Amino acid sequence: MGRRGTKEYRAPEALQLILADRDRQRIACPSCGSRSIVRTPRRRLSGSEWEADRQVSLRCTECGRQAAYVPKALTQPSEVTAGV
Ligand SMILES: [Zn+2]
Repeated sequence: MGRRGTKEYRAPEALQLILADRDRQRIACPSCGSRSIVRTPRRRLSGSEWEADRQVSLRCTECGRQAAYVPKALTQPSEVTAGV
């Protein structure tokens, strides 16, 4: 808490969201349960070309929380850092 505007997930929530996205599961907000998650960049329908070195941002339009990660850097769950 503290800063106005952008809110961040707590680390366990961010990790849950990030891992679900990485595994290409349906993602829902770990905080409020909304499925209104805006992913940047959008997933490609082909699914074959995975831009692993590009940062992925996940933002819930309901509660305004967001998380970001770089797929290439995500080798183990313990290496995830929440936020931007
Ligand atoms: Zn939410």
